[in-house]
Amino acid sequence: MEPSDELDADFDELFKDDDGAELDLTERIKEADAPVVKMANLILLQAVERRAEEIHLERHAERLVVRQRVDGRLHPHMDLPVKLQNGLMARLKILACLDIAERRRPQSGRFSMQVHGVPREFHLFTLPGRLGESLLIRIVPPAGSLPPLDALDFSPANLARYQRLLASPRGLLVHAGVGDAGHDETMRCALQALAGPERKLISIEHAVFCSVDGVIQMEARPELPMDAALHAALSQRPDVLLLSEIHDLAILDLALKAALHGCLVLAALPVREAPAALARLLDMGAPPYLLAEALVGVCAQRRVRRLCPVCAEPHALSREEMKLLRTDQPVRRARVAAPDTPSPCPACMGLGYRGRLSIQEVLEVTPALRERLRAAASTSDLAQAARAGGWEPCFEDAREKVLDGRTSLDELLCAAPPDNSTE
Ligand SMILES: [Zn+2]
Repeated sequence: MEPSDELDADFDELFKDDDGAELDLTERIKEADAPVVKMANLILLQAVERRAEEIHLERHAERLVVRQRVDGRLHPHMDLPVKLQNGLMARLKILACLDIAERRRPQSGRFSMQVHGVPREFHLFTLPGRLGESLLIRIVPPAGSLPPLDALDFSPANLARYQRLLASPRGLLVHAGVGDAGHDETMRCALQALAGPERKLISIEHAVFCSVDGVIQMEARPELPMDAALHAALSQRPDVLLLSEIHDLAILDLALKAALHGCLVLAALPVREAPAALARLLDMGAPPYLLAEALVGVCAQRRVRRLCPVCAEPHALSREEMKLLRTDQPVRRARVAAPDTPSPCPACMGLGYRGRLSIQEVLEVTPALRERLRAAASTSDLAQAARAGGWEPCFEDAREKVLDGRTSLDELLCAAPPDNSTE
């Protein structure tokens, strides 16, 4: 799209109330007078229509760059003239009720809008830079879109293991994942599955990104740090507690004590693999006897891209690939269209992938593994005991998902290369 030069903001127009009564974003675009208001609405609308998770507006040397993150990858969306920067940033900040005069400190806020008849929420974060402010807008999935546990891509064996762990009346269940691995969503889906009139559920999160019905969701913030929030939550006698991250020994200590006193604690840990999570908890200084007593299991996960069901093509394996996948049958791979392809696959816009798929490993703490934990054994010893108890590394789950055509060998090698998953 070529933005017109007339798009320069008339500053007063930015404050015009075009929110109307529940106007849909498509209507707002038709009704907005100021071009910069129209442009802000268009950026939001196109991101939602392309299933983007995030919008990034960044000031580069000679242009304002707009990118969208779709299925975990950033894609260029449009370049705008630098003179639009102030008006566009101001308009978006007004929507999120932020101070538009403040450009030297980071700010964050939220706003919601109807998009194609569905209420959608946007979280906006500003970042001051040398050339001006940049913006990140995270697009919250529609309310009520948390899937049930059996739609989270678990293999039947892993789902059975995970459900056994969730059925524990008490204990610490660690959800391991690094970055955007999907483990946060798994924990929220678990809370949703556990919610009911006979249970009290509390979550403590860095930022409440998605609401879960029947759960008291607390937000840790500078004036209410995680440990203070956790103390307050424990005084409410929860049956299930969610912690968005165990980042120090103080939090781990409280989580272990809560787990020993009758609470099921679901907690995230930034580690890629399940045996490494056990080692990390020991390294953080958890007393081995307490950890052995309280820990019930670890669910570790990563995300890969899901092959486009319309345009994926067969791929004959090389000798090395056959050895890796333990098959001589062809698998499917992505058909990625060149950027200037006139009519790319409409299902995936020529990206070759559509949506994402989780690959998981679920470790249950067996009596033998509990003994190793009590002895603070090495990671390889812990992994050996875990394997004996039925745990399989992520690579095995990813391999199955390549063989049944849900993802590609390229995605497997990127997310779960065999060397890193067989320690
Ligand atoms: Zn396609």
